[in-house]
Amino acid sequence: MNKRPFVSLEKAQEIIKEYPTPFHLYDERGIRENVKALKEAFSWNEGFKEYFAVKATPNPFLINILREYGCGCDCSSKTELMMSRTIGATGDDIMFSSNDTPIEEFKMCDDLGGIINLDDITHIEAVEKACGRLPEKMSCRYNPGGMFKISNDIMDNPGDAKYGMTTPQIFEAFKIMKSKGVKEFGIHAFLASNTVTNDYYPMLAKVLFELAVDLKKETGADIKFINLSGGVGIPYKPDQEPNDIKVIGEGVHKVYDEVLVPAGMGDVAIYTEMGRFMLGPYGGLVTTAINEKHTHKEYIGVDACAVNLMRPAIYGAYHHITVLGKEDEPCNNKYDVTGSLCENSDKFAIDRMLPKVDMGDILFIHDTGAHGFSMGYNYNGKLKSAEILLKEDGSYQLIRRAETPKDYFATFDCFDFYDDLIKE
Ligand SMILES: *Cc1c(COP(=O)(O)O)cnc(C)c1O
Repeated sequence: MNKRPFVSLEKAQEIIKEYPTPFHLYDERGIRENVKALKEAFSWNEGFKEYFAVKATPNPFLINILREYGCGCDCSSKTELMMSRTIGATGDDIMFSSNDTPIEEFKMCDDLGGIINLDDITHIEAVEKACGRLPEKMSCRYNPGGMFKISNDIMDNPGDAKYGMTTPQIFEAFKIMKSKGVKEFGIHAFLASNTVTNDYYPMLAKVLFELAVDLKKETGADIKFINLSGGVGIPYKPDQEPNDIKVIGEGVHKVYDEVLVPAGMGDVAIYTEMGRFMLGPYGGLVTTAINEKHTHKEYIGVDACAVNLMRPAIYGAYHHITVLGKEDEPCNNKYDVTGSLCENSDKFAIDRMLPKVDMGDILFIHDTGAHGFSMGYNYNGKLKSAEILLKEDGSYQLIRRAETPKDYFATFDCFDFYDDLIKE
């Protein structure tokens, strides 16, 4: 499949006149169409709710678009809770799926009325200590261990993951929580990441639904929701078949009817906590080719670097690249596309076939809408980029300005050399 950017060269040039590259650009139309399709796919379940994984793209403008469709916020830290609070997502609109949690963050979540999803059995005591009691509605995160497989295909290795409670622990946790006044229960698990198959959610659902039936039988807990969490992936590579959310929703529905309904649990709500699937394809990193270098290899240097998008540098992740305006030219030049960090891993692409790149060409790096900007850092004193929303009507809006040296040096503002430091 030919991956096409959601922005034309002409539109990109118009934006760049006002906001220089690099920046992350987001596609409002794509975001809206996708969230509508998700809601439709799970419309068979009355209580269905998506809690957007804030860590994927912590931008209030983007999350507010999802909020229009009833999405809540999945948070895992103090600042993510603060962002949710600011956009009015409180109470049942917050799912707090943290781990290794500082005790005061449980209190903050509870003060906002959010749902605490416990990563570990020892956190029952921590929540009691922090909040003075256990909230009436709580959730536990499950980790069955072993390998998570679809037939012989290993999807991920939960046995190696730090998250969640073992099977005996979650039974024990439910009993303790029930005895301490918890009235409404949820179950959560995240067993595989970036799955590009329609089978992941239905398989996970089967594991969790069967667990829910057993938990109810053995502990008498009133299970109100089952949270399939994130992990639904996107096709980063052009030859990958995208997930079909409608098929995924039908797959979960089938297991629901097979396992939960016969057990008298046909009123359980399905929750999701997707990040990547919600926004990943609807963001791109727009960057300009500023250097070319012909040594042992052919290099194109761009004005973005791993600070703006670190997935290629840390996981060797593939991100498709389009040279804007050259969409239909033959890809007969092999390049490494690099950023400027003093790290050889700072390459957006290695041995990538592209059309001939000329200096000043604008490159669109695909699928940066989730786990893109948000993973950024400041190595080499590099500054984080702006984020811009391309609206449905073709206009655009700055939704986060680029960092300036003043931001970079802000934590020295208590020292007397600060004024000298920020002089440009
Ligand atoms: C990261 C994360 C998500 C979102 O994962 P995606 O792969 O972006 O869908 C959801 N829930 C929890 C607890 C997470 O840590």
